[in-house]
Amino acid sequence: KPIQFDRIVNDCVRKMQMLAEVKDIILHAEIESSVPMNADEVRLHQLLVTVLDNAIKYTPEGGLVRVVCRKLAHSVLLEVEDTGIGIAPENLPLIFNRFYRGDKARTRQEGGTGLGLAIAKWIVESHGGRIRVESKLLVGTQVLITLPI
Ligand code: ATP
Repeated sequence: KPIQFDRIVNDCVRKMQMLAEVKDIILHAEIESSVPMNADEVRLHQLLVTVLDNAIKYTPEGGLVRVVCRKLAHSVLLEVEDTGIGIAPENLPLIFNRFYRGDKARTRQEGGTGLGLAIAKWIVESHGGRIRVESKLLVGTQVLITLPI
């Protein structure tokens, strides 16, 4: 049944707001209203939570997480940008691998299995969409997702 993507994004941002607040991170969202699309609401919700959770988890206190949701001609675009620790260029090709987790000594403090992005990629691709990650070590990370309408 058709779902409203902007509403899912809004819901998730609202849910993650509390998590951002306890880390003194500003979670800022710019959400353009989108047209109804055929997609799995539960999966897209899971996708959003995974990407937002990572952005908050890997951003130090006082940082910024920015969410932009736009409607394109035949797709919706979602950008999640953070001012976090970033990912080294040599690790960037590994992040979608099952069970891959960055720097073990550091990530052991944070819970996680390293399945988040592998599942996120599977959700995006099973909807016929694309996911791409750009990152600069110690500067921040940008996750770009497009999903066909
Ligand atoms: P889990 O998904 O179980 O919470 P995880 O976050 O370690 O564990 P993934 O979501 O698959 O697993 O991410 C894989 C790795 O990619 C992470 O361990 C981390 O090193 C890196 N990563 C993902 N998102 C970010 C981000 N926003 N900033 C910096 N590094 C990131």
